[in-house]
Amino acid sequence: MAASEPGATPTHCPYCALQCGMSIAVGPGTAVITPREDVPANAGGLCQKGWSAGEMLDVPDRVTEPLMRVHEGAPLEPVSWETALDAIASGVGALQAVHGPDSVAVFGGGGLTNEKAYQLGKFARIALRTSQIDYNGRFCMSSAAAALNRAFGMDRGLPGPITDVGDADVVLMVGGNVAETMPPFLRHLNRMRENGGALIVADPRRTATARQADLHLQLTPGTDLALANGMLHLAMAEGLLDDSYIEARTSGFDRLRTVVNSYWPERVERITGVPVAHMREAVRMLAAGGRSLILTARGAEQQAQGVDTVTAFINLALALGLPGTEGSGYGCLTGQGNGQGGREHGQKADQLPGYRRIDDPEARARVAAVWGVEPEIIPGPGRSAYELLMALGTEGGPRALLVFGSNPVVSAPRASVVEERLNSLDLLVVADFVLSETARRADIVLPAAQWAEEEGTMTNLEGRVLRRRRAAQPPEGVRTDLEIIRGLAVRLEAPGTWSTEPEEVFAELGRASAGGIADYSGITYERIEKEGGVFWPCPSPDHPGTPRPFLDRFATPDGRARFTAVEHRGPEEDVDTDYPVYLTTGRVLAHYQSGAQTRRVRQLVDASPEPFVELHPDLAERLGVEPGSLVRVSSRRGVSIARARLTDTIRDDTVFMPFHWGGEGRANTLTNPALDPISRMPEFKVCAVRVEPAGPP
Ligand code: SF4
Repeated sequence: MAASEPGATPTHCPYCALQCGMSIAVGPGTAVITPREDVPANAGGLCQKGWSAGEMLDVPDRVTEPLMRVHEGAPLEPVSWETALDAIASGVGALQAVHGPDSVAVFGGGGLTNEKAYQLGKFARIALRTSQIDYNGRFCMSSAAAALNRAFGMDRGLPGPITDVGDADVVLMVGGNVAETMPPFLRHLNRMRENGGALIVADPRRTATARQADLHLQLTPGTDLALANGMLHLAMAEGLLDDSYIEARTSGFDRLRTVVNSYWPERVERITGVPVAHMREAVRMLAAGGRSLILTARGAEQQAQGVDTVTAFINLALALGLPGTEGSGYGCLTGQGNGQGGREHGQKADQLPGYRRIDDPEARARVAAVWGVEPEIIPGPGRSAYELLMALGTEGGPRALLVFGSNPVVSAPRASVVEERLNSLDLLVVADFVLSETARRADIVLPAAQWAEEEGTMTNLEGRVLRRRRAAQPPEGVRTDLEIIRGLAVRLEAPGTWSTEPEEVFAELGRASAGGIADYSGITYERIEKEGGVFWPCPSPDHPGTPRPFLDRFATPDGRARFTAVEHRGPEEDVDTDYPVYLTTGRVLAHYQSGAQTRRVRQLVDASPEPFVELHPDLAERLGVEPGSLVRVSSRRGVSIARARLTDTIRDDTVFMPFHWGGEGRANTLTNPALDPISRMPEFKVCAVRVEPAGPP
């Protein structure tokens, strides 16, 4: 580890949910980053995104003054903050006077700090009085969240501190590629393997993570649920269940047993393509390990059966007696930087702060009391993210949208139609620090401060609340999201108080979450600082926080974890003669989410300059595709063109595209917006496409 620069500010990375600790020293035109050893998540490591994050503070196309179109079709032009905020307030007021409160919608982000996520939810409910708020975390974590709630009564990413991974005997990772998405996580896996532990990876691609595994289950896309049920069937057949645990700590196993009986191994091999011997070996390894962890990520979750798929892996973990025992269990590899905290404080269409249901009368009363309003003022649940985007500009749908911390033009499924819906709005407002693909379409752009320019807290994949620190002043003319929200709330004559001080907002968030599932009421900035982070729930100042929430009981009414019998349904869109190849999407090492940030960092662009289509050489030969040539990928929703990258690490019935780019190589032009019936997660991870040569390289 390089020594920290004198005067460097300890903080955390702007990107993923690992929230690696780093120090940043900002000088004129420079920002020197060094990794921190004192943060367990990365323990001195960073990936190339973290190392280069300082460059973002100095991007050449930074927006530093509000921009507005004087009329439809006019270019964006600089205006004063007063002009921009007045125009938004009057536009919102005019629309709501005619069309009602729900004619205005809010779209948030899983990268926003806890304070911003909280304030945005409050702003939507009592300043705009709209039910129409959701966020891009719906596209990230929602299936795992719903499955965790279903089984354990509480949704928290990992079951314990991240160091438990290094202490494990076996880790089964399903649909996760940490070697590219969060490389310092490998340190924990490496420690486990140095201690004699084993890694099993289930993934349709032999990813950088799968290549390090002791066993790779290379399944057909969209068949993860069948794999889990098949493994449970084998565990039952081989007498590997933990019967006393099932008896003492769970409910509902008998119904599950009946369903799983029909997942005999040869049937599951036909569905998944995974040899029976590999499934058997995997389940034996999990059962034999004293400490075994099953972790899912987006590969398993971004499916129209995502909740049931995660449930199936939780069922397997429960049947083996893993959850609620120290060092073992089921966990989810949260994706976005504040994917955990961002979903706890009221950005979700159906939730209030503290991870409370918005239709729960008691929760409404408690939160309303903190907000200083009558509970009746708080609207009911709104539309989920994709449904909200699809309703924009339609009869009865929102006619104005305020976007904070999100770039749905690149990240939403069936993105061409999302673009059309955004273009049909009467008013699109985007708060961002650059002109993202979404901001470029806005009527008004509000220049926002970015990660190292403001204070706040993030909750990482462990459920540990951490402090992001200000290391630099934002450029003149730029405001923080809290300042923007206050500016609008005041103009809209919203009730309550609208602090712009993150610590004050965090204290209010704590009060609003008190008594809820995600109870932050005992956490303060001072404690986070002193203790290096605090795990929620933490219901009082003298409470130590809760690193392992299920050791004594699960958060269900009877304290037992719930089995739920789930059946494999397969992808919503299977391959056929017109669209004979599976498409799966994901991330690459150098980029993060929609790429709005990382595509502006020189060394990341050098490392990964353009979108591509990964395909097996055998498939390429059948299709007449040359390495490095442009290929046209078509689905029922549109066409994308990108360069072919040949590799034998992918199945020969599947192609892969990263989703970090807009334009003609946009993967989400193709993806299927079929939604999970519970989480409303779109099926990003599998659809049917046709692949053909597009022209000379
Ligand atoms: Fe760590 Fe994630 Fe940042 Fe990489 S992107 S440095 S893994 S927090």
